[in-house]
Amino acid sequence: MPISMDEIVSLCKRRGIIFQGSEIYNGLAGTFDYGPIGTELKQNVKRAWWRAMVYERSDVEGLDAAILMHPSVWIASGHVSNFSDPLSDCKDCKKRFRSDHVEEKDYQTFKIQTAKSPAGGGQPADADWHDAGFPIVADSKKAAKELARRKLGDESAPLKVEPVEGTTRRERRCPECGGELSAPRQFNMMFKTYVGPVEDQAEIVYLRPETAQGIFVNYENVRQSMRRKLPFGIAQTGKSFRNEITPRNFIFRTREFEQMEIEFFCKPGTDDTWFDYWVDARFNWYTRFGIKKENLRLREHAKEELAHYAKACKDVEYNFPIGWSELEGIANRTDFDLTQHMKHSGKDLLYFDEESKTKYIPYVIEPSAGADRSTLAFLVDAYREETVQDRKRVVLGLHYSLAPVKAAVFPLLANRSDIVEKAQALSLDLKKSFYTVYDDTAAIGKLYRRQDEIGTPFCITVDVDSLTDGKATVRERDSMKQERVPFEGIKEYIRTRLVAAENT
Ligand code: ATP
Repeated sequence: MPISMDEIVSLCKRRGIIFQGSEIYNGLAGTFDYGPIGTELKQNVKRAWWRAMVYERSDVEGLDAAILMHPSVWIASGHVSNFSDPLSDCKDCKKRFRSDHVEEKDYQTFKIQTAKSPAGGGQPADADWHDAGFPIVADSKKAAKELARRKLGDESAPLKVEPVEGTTRRERRCPECGGELSAPRQFNMMFKTYVGPVEDQAEIVYLRPETAQGIFVNYENVRQSMRRKLPFGIAQTGKSFRNEITPRNFIFRTREFEQMEIEFFCKPGTDDTWFDYWVDARFNWYTRFGIKKENLRLREHAKEELAHYAKACKDVEYNFPIGWSELEGIANRTDFDLTQHMKHSGKDLLYFDEESKTKYIPYVIEPSAGADRSTLAFLVDAYREETVQDRKRVVLGLHYSLAPVKAAVFPLLANRSDIVEKAQALSLDLKKSFYTVYDDTAAIGKLYRRQDEIGTPFCITVDVDSLTDGKATVRERDSMKQERVPFEGIKEYIRTRLVAAENT
């Protein structure tokens, strides 16, 4: 059984992975806080990305640009005029929706008649029926009945529901209450703030809605300082902010989130080949770090769906508990951004190609992933329930490189100071090499279950025999195989396995 979003949310709260933002004040919509375990997990996701995209390659440099950028950046990029979503309000329940997320359906008007329920039960008499005083517009008789009952505030009111002939039309209506939606309004999603002490127009800046522009404005700095020739890329991870109209589905869509983006600069004409290359490379990154292939797919954007700057775009989609949805977008942004920045800044961003002795503006392929969405996908994909000796075992089978805690050390007997001391000393030593925890607050079975639920690959138990044979029991998460390993070899035993996993 695949895990539901509610189950993941509950596991995340219970195990210190992710909490609602500002929870003690009933939360702030669209924000989440990563707890001690989640912080490690997300950092590991970003580290795995950085390692594969920067360290393991010789054609990508790293960058960490400021979140606040000159306001002209967002005029040049088109975000001030274009970065908006169509927004509709429900005239009845007042809820707000992204108009393009509401499904268009065939709706019909229904005449509603109601009656008082007879005292002894049964059907009301013919004479007791009267017009409810309001028609209902719905996509089926059943939906009309439900909406009418909700409007009357009576879940069991006797109702007669009749479609009115010739009223069928195709439109979008409120998904919550069936009410009429206002005409779509464009809504700019950038958060505005002010620099300097005076809140006046001239001081407006935006919190970046994507990390990409920080890369474009530093393209020439990086190229020159690192003596780069095309093709090469610049990678960056960091926070982005979007005033999403309907943040929802846990960390899938939030107002503050982290992106992992590469802008890969190449010679025009080679862009199609690099685009295909990056689509493959990014798809394979997810499977390398443990996502099952059957839960991933690629979706090509239709021409009319493409952003104004893009020549082509493919999404890597994941089969989330909410259905197939975008995990990452890989776009061919052509020379749009650098051309725009050259125009608006007045700086020369042309590239001199020594081979052909010509000057041109590089084309750009952009693989743009979300660190939070990836974290959610890794969590969902790793979750499994098993039955072991008639007991349910919940395991996060995370790739070792992503596992928040690498090793946990337990004393078999928490009341034996000689065992406790040995276990604590081992834990302190392991901590110098990888994130290790010490726990003696429950019986061994329960301690194992706790660590399984957060995906800890190795649990080490120090027992009475350890005092004489100088060995401890190391138990591996997935196979549950236990091995006696000498104390002095435990660090190497774990390190070898972690490194082997990282290099697969
Ligand atoms: P969507 O269509 O889901 O709004 P998008 O196409 O606008 O996403 P991009 O601008 O391509 O997204 O951003 C690249 C990546 O950043 C997305 O694939 C996603 O992983 C992440 N991302 C974008 N918006 C959000 C958000 N509001 N919350 C969490 N992650 C996000």
